[in-house]
Amino acid sequence: MVQRGIDQLREQVRGAVITPDDEGYEQARRVYNAMIDRRPAAVVRCANAGDVVAAVNFAREHQLDLAVRGGEHSVPGFGTCDGGVVVDLSGMREVRVDPATGTARAEGGATWGDFNDATHAFGLATTGGIISTTGVGGLTLGGGIGYLARGYGLSCDNLVSAEVVTADGQSLVASEDEHDDLFWALRGGGGNFGVVTSFVFRVHPVKDIYGGPMFFELDDAGAVLRFFREFIADAPEEFGGFPAFQIAPPLPFIPEDRHGDPFLAMVACWAGPLDQGEQALQPFHDLAPVVAEHLGLMPYPALNSAFDALVPPGLQHYWKANFVTELTDEAIAAHLDHGPKVPVVNSTVHIYPINGACHRVAPDATAFAYRDANFATVIAGMWPDPTQNEANISWVRDYYDATAPLSEEGGYVNFMADDDQDRIKANYRGNYERLVTIKRKYDPDNLFHLNQNIRP
Ligand SMILES: Cc1cc2nc3c(=O)[nH]c(=O)nc-3n(C[C@H](O)[C@H](O)[C@H](O)COP(=O)(O)OP(=O)(O)OC[C@H]3O[C@@H](n4cnc5c(N)ncnc54)[C@H](O)[C@@H]3O)c2cc1C
Repeated sequence: MVQRGIDQLREQVRGAVITPDDEGYEQARRVYNAMIDRRPAAVVRCANAGDVVAAVNFAREHQLDLAVRGGEHSVPGFGTCDGGVVVDLSGMREVRVDPATGTARAEGGATWGDFNDATHAFGLATTGGIISTTGVGGLTLGGGIGYLARGYGLSCDNLVSAEVVTADGQSLVASEDEHDDLFWALRGGGGNFGVVTSFVFRVHPVKDIYGGPMFFELDDAGAVLRFFREFIADAPEEFGGFPAFQIAPPLPFIPEDRHGDPFLAMVACWAGPLDQGEQALQPFHDLAPVVAEHLGLMPYPALNSAFDALVPPGLQHYWKANFVTELTDEAIAAHLDHGPKVPVVNSTVHIYPINGACHRVAPDATAFAYRDANFATVIAGMWPDPTQNEANISWVRDYYDATAPLSEEGGYVNFMADDDQDRIKANYRGNYERLVTIKRKYDPDNLFHLNQNIRP
């Protein structure tokens, strides 16, 4: 029955349908997090929105699990499943810029690298993630935190409209004017409401930036974190950047005898007038000696891809996250206790500032609810050796256990693990009930359940 359906699906779609008997299946079933080892019945590498409709209908009609995959960076591996269907959007990555309207349209499988390369040619950008291989789709639907968030809001705040294939196989436009309830839910509600085949974003005049990483001794980490807390409260919104606990990679700008040592890094991005960049970062230089730095003028896409090599596909991932309103002295003490124990060069802890423009959106204006949180913390465990899973997961969990009581109850859905499903309500605070209502309308049978799931 399912086999016959797969044969029919192959005839319907323009892209490839890859099953366990097909060459390329091993590659097609793989996702970015190497800890995820699942065997879908079919991976549908969609070529267009019509293929997405066919794949969604097929999964629904055959009552199969349906996973949706854009940039495939989901840490819990939501982009694949056992025995079900994967809608793989990696063949739908076109980005078109319309400078006349100040917008850019990205297909559902585009990465931020695809997006930034296209918009940079026009001297434009919008808020995207820190790593260029991350998908526009998953990142935007969960909110979207990045260097430009303080100035221009979250990625989802820049969304103008989206084309969505819903559970019943319809293709709808969601915007302020059409299906506005769906549009509201898409901006933070994750992949719960359908497959977005294209996104239209507002873009802004950001071409080159001044920035890069600065490495401080761990002895100065407390002073840097306390300074950052005060500085960022009213820093110019052209400043984006975050403190990180990071092992020094073997890069030429870092003294060779310090490669492999843990540091408190400050990763900075000044997206204002370029001649003011150095001055904007001067307070950090005044604070403590910098062991190594790689600051300078660069194209925005260069900063967006500067750390890609630290996180290649094929690492094991386990992450935990929280929103933080007040970064108290006690919280900083917990960071100082656990951050320096970062086990490998790929792992990191980032404390992203999400004030500025993110705060100017009302908590109920989009599904993303934490509009008064000042920071989104992620403890990102990423390591190459699967025999070291236990030690690395323990580091993440111990760190999380120490900081969670000093944080908000909820966290950012995109940074969460699959053991965080009990926090869904907390992640959405007062918006949760409305999300459930919209879920009931657009996906009453919970076809889209492989995500941080909002149950209908
Ligand atoms: C190395 C790394 C760096 C990251 N950096 C950042 C960062 O700087 N800022 C930030 O905010 N987050 C960041 N994240 C988290 C990231 O936002 C999430 O992992 C997100 O889910 C990735 O989206 P994706 O499309 O790459 O992943 P996928 O695994 O392809 O998708 C994840 C889920 O999102 C949904 N989804 C994806 N595309 C679509 C679509 N077109 N339509 C409908 N649903 C869709 C589906 O539910 C899917 O299962 C990072 C993650 C990693 C691994």
